[in-house]
Amino acid sequence: MNHASQNTITKNINSIRKQIAEAERKYARQPGSVQLLAVSKTRPIEDIQAAFSVNQLHFGENYLQDALPKIEAMTDPSVTWHFIGPIQSNKTRQIAENFDWVHGVDRLKIAQRLSEQRDPSIKPLNICIQINTSNEESKSGLSVENTLELAKNIHMLPNIRLRGLMTIPAASADFEQQRKPFRLLRELKEEIQIQGIELDTLSMGMSGDMEAAIAEGSTMVRIGTAIFGQRN
Ligand SMILES: *Cc1c(COP(=O)(O)O)cnc(C)c1O
Repeated sequence: MNHASQNTITKNINSIRKQIAEAERKYARQPGSVQLLAVSKTRPIEDIQAAFSVNQLHFGENYLQDALPKIEAMTDPSVTWHFIGPIQSNKTRQIAENFDWVHGVDRLKIAQRLSEQRDPSIKPLNICIQINTSNEESKSGLSVENTLELAKNIHMLPNIRLRGLMTIPAASADFEQQRKPFRLLRELKEEIQIQGIELDTLSMGMSGDMEAAIAEGSTMVRIGTAIFGQRN
């Protein structure tokens, strides 16, 4: 699929909504329990507006400089912005000031900066801890062993709210292989909850592995290509 027209974008969103609803049924998930995050990184504002025209309200971006003009252009207050890219510490202030969610937190220092830099008079910044479920050198994210301690520390910080866990597993075409890292993330979330930290979010599943993620309990799928077409 090449770069999608605006008509194609709205059709794709409706088709993905249908797929999400079917997967919820198939895996005995509560209807409406899986949220669609439209990953609009690298896309022009017109594509975001096309998605917004069919009531898509959650958007994911991973390049700060790319995202800022789009955030400014979308003036409707119901639009929710998710930062899903790697976080450099010199970028935390602008992330804390402009986004509603941050999905890629993998160290305490970043969470502390986001906490300090978030305006205390507005809603807390929602945080997901990124977990490396594939143990690949190339993918950033935290080892499973260190997650519990990090979750405890982040949980205590003001102006941010720890919502859950996020992962970007190694790509696989096999459905059962796809499920494994997602299962691991779900079990890890349960372990953290046993320690008394309430979490309500599993940010997992992309265009190629959405169904496997929903089967394992995803509450937020991050979909780019299947909505907007192939990126360059
Ligand atoms: C780009 C990106 C996605 C979307 O991937 P698609 O395969 O295009 O659906 C999801 N999550 C993160 C963190 C990304 O960077």
